[in-house]
Amino acid sequence: MSDTQTLEGVRSKRYPPLEERFAALVVKTETCWLWQGKPNTSGYGTIRDGGRKHRVHRIAWEWANGPIPDGMLVLHSCDTPRCVNPAHLSLGTVRDNNYDRDAKGRTKTPARKTHCIRGHELSGYNLYTFFDRKLGLTARACRACANMRQNARRRRNRALARAAREGTSNG
Ligand SMILES: [Zn+2]
Ligand SMILES: [Zn+2]
Repeated sequence: MSDTQTLEGVRSKRYPPLEERFAALVVKTETCWLWQGKPNTSGYGTIRDGGRKHRVHRIAWEWANGPIPDGMLVLHSCDTPRCVNPAHLSLGTVRDNNYDRDAKGRTKTPARKTHCIRGHELSGYNLYTFFDRKLGLTARACRACANMRQNARRRRNRALARAAREGTSNG
């Protein structure tokens, strides 16, 4: 037994619990919780656990909501791949993700454009900018439209979480 205990001691020293390592690598801002570890090639943070690599935003969603249903993605409403704030994460399908990308593509308007595709004014509080890592540019976007998307996602998240709880998935 003492050998096992020693081994356990060494192991826990070398590999602190996942939660601990996770917390040590997150810096919480007023909006996003930013992962400080090295991102993978897609810009997502990853962490090793039990020899497997996990994407940290998926772990964050699961800790807040429970297991991710089969085939679902965890999407960022804040367009920040390394963000792990559960409030910015939502479940979606590959199709949602593509739609989202298309929608965001349309919002990358030239500076002189004054209204979004839905006619909201792109100025003051309603205008926000974010750095688009893939395109390597600062994009301008409509906050009203972003809020609409986020609300739709929240509704869908709640419905999905409810469905998962009620065991309606085939998982
Ligand atoms: Zn965020
Ligand atoms: Zn708009």
